[in-house]
Amino acid sequence: MNKLDKILLSVEKPARYIGGEYNAPKADWKKLNYCICFPDVYEVGMSNLGIRIVAESLRTVDGVYVDRCFAPWRDYGEQLKENDIPLYALSTKRPLKDFDMIGFSLGFEMCYTTVLYMLDLAKIPLRSADRGDEYPIIQAGGPCAVNPEPMAPFFDLFVIGDGEEIMAELAKLKLATKTKNEFLEKASELDGVYVPALMEVKYDDNGLIEGFGGKTKVKKAVCRDLDNAVFPHKMPVGNIEAIFDRAVIEVMRGCPRGCRFCQAGFLYRPIRQRSVEHLTEQAVCLVRSTGFDELSLNSLSTGDYPKLKELLKELKANLPDTKIALPSLRIDSFDGEFIEQSRKSSLTFAPEAGTQRLRDVINKDISEDEVERSVKIAFEKGYSSIKLYFMMGLPTETDEDLDGIADIVFKIKDVYSANPKYARNLRISVSVSTFIPKPFTPFQWERQITREEFEHKVKRLKEKLFVKGVTFSWNDFSLSELEAVLARGDRRVADVIEKAYKKGSFLDSWSECLKADKWFEAIDECGLKISSYTRERGEDEILPWDFIDLIVTKDYFLKERKKAYSGEVTGSCFKGCKGCGVQKEFKCDRC
Ligand code: SF4
Ligand code: SF4
Repeated sequence: MNKLDKILLSVEKPARYIGGEYNAPKADWKKLNYCICFPDVYEVGMSNLGIRIVAESLRTVDGVYVDRCFAPWRDYGEQLKENDIPLYALSTKRPLKDFDMIGFSLGFEMCYTTVLYMLDLAKIPLRSADRGDEYPIIQAGGPCAVNPEPMAPFFDLFVIGDGEEIMAELAKLKLATKTKNEFLEKASELDGVYVPALMEVKYDDNGLIEGFGGKTKVKKAVCRDLDNAVFPHKMPVGNIEAIFDRAVIEVMRGCPRGCRFCQAGFLYRPIRQRSVEHLTEQAVCLVRSTGFDELSLNSLSTGDYPKLKELLKELKANLPDTKIALPSLRIDSFDGEFIEQSRKSSLTFAPEAGTQRLRDVINKDISEDEVERSVKIAFEKGYSSIKLYFMMGLPTETDEDLDGIADIVFKIKDVYSANPKYARNLRISVSVSTFIPKPFTPFQWERQITREEFEHKVKRLKEKLFVKGVTFSWNDFSLSELEAVLARGDRRVADVIEKAYKKGSFLDSWSECLKADKWFEAIDECGLKISSYTRERGEDEILPWDFIDLIVTKDYFLKERKKAYSGEVTGSCFKGCKGCGVQKEFKCDRC
């Protein structure tokens, strides 16, 4: 028995670390070797469609081998360190530092220290400035890359936007260049590529950004034609159950709604749909090649996919035994027929705010009548468990808006008890998270509420929602505060991330691993203040992410912010283009 086998026998869920899954890439070694790293555990990473698309794009290039690596749980990480075994890729079992390129997917700000944990376990210096040509190119992509600055010193390059085409281009460029510097210089000319070492940030005496120097404009990469873009027609089937253990297709990219707090809604514009024909073909290939009995139709707002009924009909005809999951249905696109397709134990709705006034402010175009209509349909279909998601701390929010959350709950209870044929065991779970003003949204200038405000709001909601059959949960404020610092941070936050990691906080998206006190210590020791990052920003201030061109214009965000304060709603893009800036270069489907 070798050293690795012995260690595997001593840790929890060793199947996370052995590879060899059905449909997994076979071990190989080519001219260019790329390892996709996912900064969370195997079960989470195996459910991620984005990294499978990236792998598919890379595999279109001759001479490229692609492997994978997920973050080891703490027990395995400790064993690797103790036994001096560098972190390795799943199929080849080769150390990460043997690869030519390593790409991390940044899906959630709280994964940042886990990136450092993985680099450290791989015995790769954390900062790009300390890595010479003998080390792989370390790059990052994914939704958090839209504000790359807090992680800038750790990566050689970031990919901003869609990965389908740019990843293959980068692989070709790497094959055609000799040194890291030559590669990075040339890569920085491509749309969607940001090389932090080629840009400098200048601060004024008050610590505000004065300007950027060097290569100061980075435009996001956009894949124009999703139907003809690469898509993985088969996927590895996990050795152990993934969090979403099912086949996945993406029906549409972008969302027509434009909720003003929602970064994803702006990030993935233009709105592009895949055709029913392509989706059916992908679904059939995926289900047949994996044996999954469930297929998820993913997108930001699947109910808005205009041909959903047609697609469901085709899927039913071609995959009669496959259960269909519709994970992101909005209340107003809720339909009895869709629930039949997607039977779950409880139904989830996200009104986000308790009153119509506040829903208009955030542009969540949902009325109480729609909530009532949807729960009625759900109850008719036999559901007796409803999950509701809201936010607190939204711009202009008052106590009355919080009370509105309880009013919605009571309304649902009334609908239920009005019909004697429903069973007497309705359960409503209300989950409220703290609003985080994210970059590239009309609310990017807003402040985040303070801990005192948070405590007041939770207390009020607790009192209002202390009702039989209702459970109320809220998020940990420290986590929201840290997430805000990381989402809105500048390059100086990198020191905090490194310190927090060195103090032992990593795998932070797991509550048992997050050490918020270590993060707060790190912020103090770096001489920074949380309030500098959670405060309201001036509209004429230079924001750390201003050098990224997300194609939606800043003027549009400002216009939307003004409309928010006057309670004016902006309707769906499917009812007409709203001129967000994307229309100057792209045509959204149906606009
Ligand atoms: S419906 Fe609103 S919250 Fe949901 S993805 Fe679209 S913009 Fe975001
Ligand atoms: S270009 Fe028009 S239709 Fe497309 S996302 Fe922007 S506002 Fe909506």
